[in-house]
Amino acid sequence: MSLSTITPWVVGNWKMNPLQTDAQTLLRGVKDLLESTPISAEKCHLGVAPVAIALTQVEAEMASAVRPVYTVAQDVSRIAGMGAYTGEVSAELLADSGIGYVLVGHSERREIFGESREILNTKIKNALNAGLTVIYCVGESLEQREAGQAEAVVLQQICDIAAVVEAEQWKNIVIAYEPIWAIGTGKTASPEDAQAMHAQIRQGLKQITGYGETTAILYGGSVKPENAVELAACPDINGALVGGASLNAESFHKIAQAFANTQ
Ligand code: PEP
Repeated sequence: MSLSTITPWVVGNWKMNPLQTDAQTLLRGVKDLLESTPISAEKCHLGVAPVAIALTQVEAEMASAVRPVYTVAQDVSRIAGMGAYTGEVSAELLADSGIGYVLVGHSERREIFGESREILNTKIKNALNAGLTVIYCVGESLEQREAGQAEAVVLQQICDIAAVVEAEQWKNIVIAYEPIWAIGTGKTASPEDAQAMHAQIRQGLKQITGYGETTAILYGGSVKPENAVELAACPDINGALVGGASLNAESFHKIAQAFANTQ
């Protein structure tokens, strides 16, 4: 049993996958499993982050699930409102489509798309102001870990957003610690290492924001059914951001069960 009173979250990050028909099969698979083997909403928040063009399809499909499954955007524009910004989707437009959650700061966005601290802060500010909940991803590279800088890098990433998050907005922030070297590699941080970093993040959040006690801190990086139980048993790991394993309904459901069972 976890000592935490924070309801865990299990969020599937589909990234740039799958095809529409496979997405439909996946969603129906998750819905069927939630019906045959229920996971109480009080014990675990669930979310799915599809590609932008599937957001409303996921929202519509999951509206008939036996329990809430949140639709999470993988990205949001740094431009607020509406206007002549070809290709962009603002926080207001997400909210207008009934999307209440968004990932910001994923290492793939930081690294491949060059999203800087300034860009991420603008996205977070816009998302919070539009009433969205932000799942803010942090994490160090292998090089940084091997140089003994992991903790400093991650705490700096937390400090980075403190300037734009108002005191009353911290309740709408979820942190996802995702060591970059563990994403999509099959390598997972050991439960001990992950717990140690989560405890540091919580301590940092308390000092920087005063909200560490109630902020959910998810782990991400090759989470699968085989390692979810051990990770879920760590007192400061309040859920998982799941990439590859979320593309399989059974794996996603098993990971959610692992976290729900710690409550
Ligand atoms: C992710 O991209 O957020 C992630 C954790 O991916 P994976 O589970 O595939 O490592």
